[in-house]
Amino acid sequence: MLRNNKKSWNCLFVSGLSTVSKLQRLYKLTSLKPNPDLDLDLDLDLDLDLDLDLSMRAVGVVVCVLAVLCVCDAVRFGQLCSGNPANNRRTSDSWGQGHYGAGRTTRVHKGLDIVCSDGSVVYAPFDVTLGGGLTVYTDASKAAINSGINLRGEGLCFKLFYVSPDRTSGSVRKGQRIGTMMPMQSVYPGMTSHVHVQMCDKSDPTQYF
Ligand code: ZN
Repeated sequence: MLRNNKKSWNCLFVSGLSTVSKLQRLYKLTSLKPNPDLDLDLDLDLDLDLDLDLSMRAVGVVVCVLAVLCVCDAVRFGQLCSGNPANNRRTSDSWGQGHYGAGRTTRVHKGLDIVCSDGSVVYAPFDVTLGGGLTVYTDASKAAINSGINLRGEGLCFKLFYVSPDRTSGSVRKGQRIGTMMPMQSVYPGMTSHVHVQMCDKSDPTQYF
């Protein structure tokens, strides 16, 4: 957490300096120079305009800095599965689609499917704490792919389905293995084999990929 905060503040600092220097240059180019021949009323108007102008620029700096902070602070999943360094998503196959909110026979898909061939190694997408194993289905005919794991990290609580975990407690560093992709083809032949990523609150995880 300390490391992440440091990263964010460094980013904020550098981006903030850049933004301020650009605005200073802009201000020099556009700054108003009161004419000594102008009467007092006009001078007052100019001062008021200048104050408003500076206030608007100050607001602009704050907005820019906040936007930069948000962008820098965004959590991104690192590689989840060997053979899929870009975390490519399951798109569409004969069983359905892999995006969040995709239709299913009697429900809606509440996760995001990341392509992962059967038997592949599954990695920690960032430093995570293991929060115990989970059972995906109650249907015994799907026992071959019935495992998963609860995880926490980067402020997120999420689950991975169809993964046989190496262990279910303790911590794992980013990029180290969590477990193995289960044999999805034995249960769903023709489906794009995948790890199902689901947030604990069932919100959309797509923004983290
Ligand atoms: Zn899924």
